[in-house]
Amino acid sequence: MPEVRMHLHPNADPAEVVVVSNERCTAGRKPAGFIRHVVFDVSGTRLEGSFRPGQSFGVIPPGVDARGVPHKVRLYSTSSPTRGEDGQGRHVATTVKRLIDEHVETGRLFLGVASNYLCDLKPGDRVKMTGPSGKRFVLPADPWAHDYVFFATGTGVAPFRGMLMDLFPEGEHPGRGDGGRAVLVMGSPYGTDLLYDGQLRALEARSGGRFRYVTAVSRESGWSGDGRLSGYVHDAFGRIAAVDEVLSGGRALVYVCGVAGMELGVLRGLWRSADGAAFVGVDASAGEPGVWTRRMIHKEVRPSRRVFLEVY
Ligand code: NAP
Repeated sequence: MPEVRMHLHPNADPAEVVVVSNERCTAGRKPAGFIRHVVFDVSGTRLEGSFRPGQSFGVIPPGVDARGVPHKVRLYSTSSPTRGEDGQGRHVATTVKRLIDEHVETGRLFLGVASNYLCDLKPGDRVKMTGPSGKRFVLPADPWAHDYVFFATGTGVAPFRGMLMDLFPEGEHPGRGDGGRAVLVMGSPYGTDLLYDGQLRALEARSGGRFRYVTAVSRESGWSGDGRLSGYVHDAFGRIAAVDEVLSGGRALVYVCGVAGMELGVLRGLWRSADGAAFVGVDASAGEPGVWTRRMIHKEVRPSRRVFLEVY
């Protein structure tokens, strides 16, 4: 894995960064969730040029909580490539979903503090930012020595947007040599809630066949066709030829990011794939994949070093 920079601005010494833009990044005009692409100018701080896709930054919302204690730092994955949104490492983005919920007992509206703070930001607003954090969920030091299957649900696509922009830089010949093929399987409740859909389609179109964009939509039964699955991301195994091809190529790395629970279906699919033992080590006591549970993961069912999980 590559050397990454960490904690250049720790929680006790946050950088003050400036909002550049804040736009919706959902595919449809009336999505079920409100998800925004927020870009920050980090120039002049130690964060400039310091993030890799897969790393996170912290945001400290202003104000205090219900007990009068200042809000704590919240982590958000960067969705930018290593060179940043501006090509210079000065503009760093994240992908934020508004948390809007109802209190189970009282029925009162509950709004997530940090997600709504970020989604309400305007260009020019100043924000306290920490980081970078995380060193395990990044592309390897020589990214073109491998091929990739990325499994995302919802805002879990954030790191993959940046990784794909690193692997397929605009205006340059995609990839280097023979490696660097990638498939993204993007899971969303509805087609309206797919994220960065136009951008990912454009990237697929200019990738010379090296990048395949697959959508898995869970709540629309008619979502089927070329690269479209009605169901969950793990339904891609055995149905999307590019996934099976990359996995059996001998140099595939698999990254999983999004809702907790999605990793179980992916590990089952990997184990049943042609090269299953390369991705998952399984004790006899685990039984058939159908009876595996999440509690077995990292115990009887062990992702290999070729599998990277970031789910919560
Ligand atoms: P969302 O829009 O609700 O989409 C989630 C999709 O995943 C839905 O289609 C959902 O299907 C499906 N799904 C639910 N359970 C599944 C399972 N066991 N296996 C496969 N698919 C499943 O997602 P979201 O609200 O944006 O949530 C994204 C999650 O990613 C959040 O929990 C966030 O914390 C996490 N995240 C993590 C990172 C990170 O670790 N760096 C970064 C960004 C986001 P149904 O609901 O229709 O059943």
